[in-house]
Amino acid sequence: MRTVLLGAPGSGKGTQGVGLSQKYNIPQISTGDLLRAAVNAGSELGKKAKSAMDAGALVSDDIVIGLIRERISHDDAKNGYILDGFPRNIPQAEALDIMLSELNQPLQGVVLLDVAFEELMQRLTGRRTCKDCGAIYNIHLSPSKVDGHCDACSGELFQRADDNEETIANRLNVYQQQTAPLVEYYQNQNKLHTIPGTGSIDDISTAIGAIFDTI
Ligand code: AMP
Repeated sequence: MRTVLLGAPGSGKGTQGVGLSQKYNIPQISTGDLLRAAVNAGSELGKKAKSAMDAGALVSDDIVIGLIRERISHDDAKNGYILDGFPRNIPQAEALDIMLSELNQPLQGVVLLDVAFEELMQRLTGRRTCKDCGAIYNIHLSPSKVDGHCDACSGELFQRADDNEETIANRLNVYQQQTAPLVEYYQNQNKLHTIPGTGSIDDISTAIGAIFDTI
């Protein structure tokens, strides 16, 4: 099942991707996670990506397309994947379509998590992530039971460097300018499924699962 989770920063793509990846036994492939790993490792690619990430801007298309090309060639992606945070603009979507048509494995469906813009700031400023297992909490909306520690594995929770108000405003702006046009792009391909990204995490997973089961 070759899918994309589309939505603004803070719409829940990461949270949903983790659960769906387990349920369908396909990897969640997040360009944000791959880039953060490269930055933490201090690789050349990470050095190139860091300033754009710190500013909440997009990293160059060449870098992220290369990351995706490499990652989807891994064995664990043979039966499909959930792309999270990629594509983020029309040129990336076109490059993905070309890459997948060369493999004769076109994208099967795109799920848009629709969340009111006003809600995203609160979600992003409150977001905390587990250092060990990647589980995502929110100090306002879905706090962990023990402050600062993950419910699942007790790992320490941290706040992403780009989850501060100024960078968030830039990221939301970039989403509106560059990523939102993908809604029409995938509508025109008859691949877009839109679901409300508000409500309980479980209800949203069920709604996405119902779509995944039909594609
Ligand atoms: P995310 O974890 O998806 O919110 O991504 C964090 C940051 O990584 C973004 O603000 C961008 O700077 C960068 N990034 C992630 N995915 C992409 C992409 N597909 N294209 C360009 N930059 C990206």
